[in-house]
Amino acid sequence: MSSQQLNNGKRRVFSGVQPSGEAHLGNYLGAFRQWVTLQDTYDCLFCIVDQHAITGQYDPEILPKRIFDMAVSLLAVGLDPERCSIFVQSEVPEHTELAWLFNAVTPVGELERMTQFKDKSSRLESIPAGILNYPILQAADILIYQAEAVPVGEDQLQHLELSREIARKWNAQYGELFPEPQAILGGTGRIMGLDGDAKMSKSLGNTVGILAEPEEVWTQVRTAVTDPQRIRKDDPGRPEVCNVYSLHEFFTDSGELPDIAEKCRTAQRGCVDCKKILAESIATEFQPFRERATHYRDKPELVLDILDQGAKRAGSIARGTMEKVRERMGMDWRKTLDGGPNPA
Ligand code: SF4
Repeated sequence: MSSQQLNNGKRRVFSGVQPSGEAHLGNYLGAFRQWVTLQDTYDCLFCIVDQHAITGQYDPEILPKRIFDMAVSLLAVGLDPERCSIFVQSEVPEHTELAWLFNAVTPVGELERMTQFKDKSSRLESIPAGILNYPILQAADILIYQAEAVPVGEDQLQHLELSREIARKWNAQYGELFPEPQAILGGTGRIMGLDGDAKMSKSLGNTVGILAEPEEVWTQVRTAVTDPQRIRKDDPGRPEVCNVYSLHEFFTDSGELPDIAEKCRTAQRGCVDCKKILAESIATEFQPFRERATHYRDKPELVLDILDQGAKRAGSIARGTMEKVRERMGMDWRKTLDGGPNPA
């Protein structure tokens, strides 16, 4: 599929996800649900960012399976390779080349003031440079496609602002090339884990896999923390402070919500029964995901082909950008020697 076929004059969007294996409910609410709707209105490039994953602890033997499982998850939630491009970051090597060139215009002070850097580095004795430079690679991921918009969670806004600053600085030094990408908010913001304590994460075990069978969904949802004031079954509850109710708002038919809230406030329904309704709603929403995942898992060659096609299309856009970048930065020196000696 050519870039023209997919582009159709639409504005371009880029977004990435870590290769963390099978996606979970937090990935779905925080990003993928929105990505599925964006593929109809934008020219979307969705990237599994394996080169970002290596800046933290990871197992090289497990990484390939995690990349594959994340690709299956993206297809399972409804990303359609006919309407968007899905690819793996390391299969388009121009990302890292551009990131290196962006090092030349990125102030270290800006990198050091990133909240995520401060957070991660405060927990480490020895800080890998990759943790500091991570937002430069993010800027390259976006700008190499001259993407105009990026769907991001609030926790990524600071990095996106840095991408805009890198675009401004590069443009000022080498001539206008990169648009300043705008945020597309509209995800769900911070999704609290079922423990009510921390952001949803597989490693904390406070979430539900998007391909979980109904029984597994229930096993996880039954552990969810509720309104702490509702200790006994006949204590009135406060849906507005209950994480289970927040999840009902995403998954349960909106017509049922007033009844769920009312029965909570008047203690007519206990938390276990309330969670059962939520588990059913989640399992129903996830059912087509499980079916699509089975289809793709049975045909791994199809997934690989989709990733190949995605990388081909992304690579052709990235190479076009890099040609201009190299030229502006004086790295197309053979061409510009204008008849001088060719050292090759
Ligand atoms: Fe939360 Fe439902 Fe219990 Fe109310 S009844 S506190 S909404 S789990």
